[in-house]
Amino acid sequence: MPELKNKVALITGGTGGIGSAICQRLADAGVRIATTYRNAEKAEAWAQDQAFEPLLVACDVGDYDDCVRMKSEVESRLGTVDIVVNNAGITRDASFRKITVEKWRQVINANLDSVFNVCHQFVNDMSERGWGRVINIASVNGQKGCFGQTNYCAAKAGMHGFTMALAQEVARKGVTVNTVSPGYIATDMVMAVREDVREQIIAQIPAGRLGRPEEIAALVAFLASEDAGFITGANFASNGGQHMH
Ligand code: NDP
Repeated sequence: MPELKNKVALITGGTGGIGSAICQRLADAGVRIATTYRNAEKAEAWAQDQAFEPLLVACDVGDYDDCVRMKSEVESRLGTVDIVVNNAGITRDASFRKITVEKWRQVINANLDSVFNVCHQFVNDMSERGWGRVINIASVNGQKGCFGQTNYCAAKAGMHGFTMALAQEVARKGVTVNTVSPGYIATDMVMAVREDVREQIIAQIPAGRLGRPEEIAALVAFLASEDAGFITGANFASNGGQHMH
């Protein structure tokens, strides 16, 4: 993808399992990488392991003012941002009977408010320049629902509503906005699940295995490319056939 050389991407939560693979894949295409982090020790250790030089910016993406500061730090170091990947996310699972207001708010804030907070910094500038890519990482559970995840499923389904609305507003400005909905991916989060429970999850996946972070990253890189310029407002499932619609 030579057209991506020297473009600038901001990947939120780039130090996590899927985020790392996205950073690596875009860096391989010549993209300059900025990522947000909250845990400095983890982020610095992560950066040392990478074959490229990421710009690390401390930012709670659930906090609007922090995102304003993050934009100015990224732009002063790397220039204007061409590609935004809203990948930061958390789960705080509980059945509806037991869920607390705090767990509800934390998940909506980190997964959904963050998409507004980050896009609001960069999308108007992308529209003015006539080129941009926004890729929102949602989840299969936002498409099909999941027991114990009213908060997470609402946030991830909400992300795609945001995608479709913003896509319509910026379609004539050369900016595309798409959602990627991964199924169960072999990251630390999923590998930490008890083995027998993980086996039960895998049994529900027609492909018979977990996905790989690199498979999500490849889809993100395609959506960032020129070839994907006519794709906008779409929701791409990568879930081994676990959910089809
Ligand atoms: P990880 O837990 O490995 O990574 C999540 C990243 O998000 C971390 O780097 C974390 O940073 C960051 N983050 C969380 N909250 C905030 C915040 N408020 N501000 C800034 N950064 C934040 O998760 P995965 O790589 O597994 O998941 C990545 C995305 O993919 C998530 O949105 C997740 O919901 C989605 N997803 C994952 C699936 C899977 O099977 N793994 C399946 C479907 C969707 P820090 O550690 O510094 O807090």
